[in-house]
Amino acid sequence: MRRRPLRNERLIFEHNRERRARGRYELPPLDVPAVDAGSVLPEEQVREPLADLPDLGELDVVQHFHRLSQMNFAVDEGLYPLGSCTMKYNPRVNEVAARLGGFTALHPLQPASQVQGALRVMWELDQVLKTITGMDGVTLQPAAGAHGELAGMLMIRKALEARGEHREEVLIPDSAHGTNPASATFAGFEAVEIASGPDGTVDMEALDRMMTDRVAGIMLTVPNTLGVFEPRIVEIAELVHGRGGLVYMDGANLNAFLGKALPGAMGADALHINLHKTFSTPHGGGGPGAGAVAVSRGLVPHLPVPRVIRDGDAFEILWDDPASIGPMRGFYANFLILVRALTYIWGLGAEGLAETAEVAVLYANLVRHRLTSAYHLEYDAPSLHEVVFDDAFQRAHGVTNVDISKRLLDYGFHPPTMSFPLIVHGALMIEPTESPAPEEVEAFCEAMLAIAREAEESPELLHEAPHETPVRRVDEVEAARHPTLRWEPSEKS
Ligand SMILES: *Cc1c(COP(=O)(O)O)cnc(C)c1O
Repeated sequence: MRRRPLRNERLIFEHNRERRARGRYELPPLDVPAVDAGSVLPEEQVREPLADLPDLGELDVVQHFHRLSQMNFAVDEGLYPLGSCTMKYNPRVNEVAARLGGFTALHPLQPASQVQGALRVMWELDQVLKTITGMDGVTLQPAAGAHGELAGMLMIRKALEARGEHREEVLIPDSAHGTNPASATFAGFEAVEIASGPDGTVDMEALDRMMTDRVAGIMLTVPNTLGVFEPRIVEIAELVHGRGGLVYMDGANLNAFLGKALPGAMGADALHINLHKTFSTPHGGGGPGAGAVAVSRGLVPHLPVPRVIRDGDAFEILWDDPASIGPMRGFYANFLILVRALTYIWGLGAEGLAETAEVAVLYANLVRHRLTSAYHLEYDAPSLHEVVFDDAFQRAHGVTNVDISKRLLDYGFHPPTMSFPLIVHGALMIEPTESPAPEEVEAFCEAMLAIAREAEESPELLHEAPHETPVRRVDEVEAARHPTLRWEPSEKS
């Protein structure tokens, strides 16, 4: 069961006002002439009456926010096997690097001569990502994976235009991440679904039939969202290239083959990398991310601007380039995320990165091995970094993937990704990452096995889960359709 009891925390406005005196700072008496706000600010900017803010002691405030932080589940708390999201540990040394004054006190319009160190960080990351992917050019601009997909598809569009070709369709397997068809559509293409074969990989006959001169290219997730590697990836790329198309590779799952295989050698023309997944920068909850895109030689001229370029020992910024797709966003991306990613990569080195992939794959296969008797596996192909079970066995007892996931919270684990990929009904997509200790992975498997037994013996226990969290089962439809976003005081104090 959950290792730490939790209690619900009231809003700060609802705390007992009697406690206000404890641990509060008293400002010294005013020793300069008092200024009336109304005499220095325009009248409409002066608030009347003053807002009814909570007036609490310092300890009350610290405890309030600490307790709030404990109501959530975090990577720093326990196994967070949210499939496709690579919720690995964020080493603290990354934070130390990202907080250095030389990085945090910069202005994006400072002349290049004053920010050589920052430009070098971007240039070095650029180089190391080229090595890791085996590609010819990199942009660090996109703010997330999906934004990287859009940048990549815009570059593909530009390259086709430069050749004087107009191709409007993009082939996307039904196992793709939902962002792929969205990005292709945003870039002005028509997303055309291509079915997976029975083993979850691309159906070559379908590809052969569909890859016409109307098709700009294919978007492939490698390994795909089932955690399955496309064994015919080189053949697929050759077929697409042979008919004048380009290959977009969704590299959000790079953690599976980091330091082991090169997308460049697989035939990718553009590939986004989620620095916030593979390279450990914190994510989830909408924080800043970075979706660097690596490209093949043919797309290099179309990379977004601004770009950092090296001129001898100095680094310059290229602001404009007629062949470029232009800027994807203001200035140079989420710079401090880039600092974290480079720190992580340099900290591990080539061997450490390869070991990362090995352990991530080993753990996913450990989970697969331990749970196959208790949970149904729709696609039986060998797993890489994640494994997708479903709730078919438990449905016989009226228990769904939602019940299983809610119950996991009682056992102190974050739930897996649910109901995705769409081709697996009732999916439970588990990605342990390389971060946890083996004992933690084992404890997670034990919890999943215990839940499978509970599903048979006392399904109602699962229907009502979670039992140990401060907020019990929420009505997800109501929460999505009629969210309460604003606190209203029950009475005027
Ligand atoms: C996470 C993910 C994305 C999207 O990345 P964001 O940074 O969330 O935009 C795309 N494809 C795959 C396979 C992913 O796992």
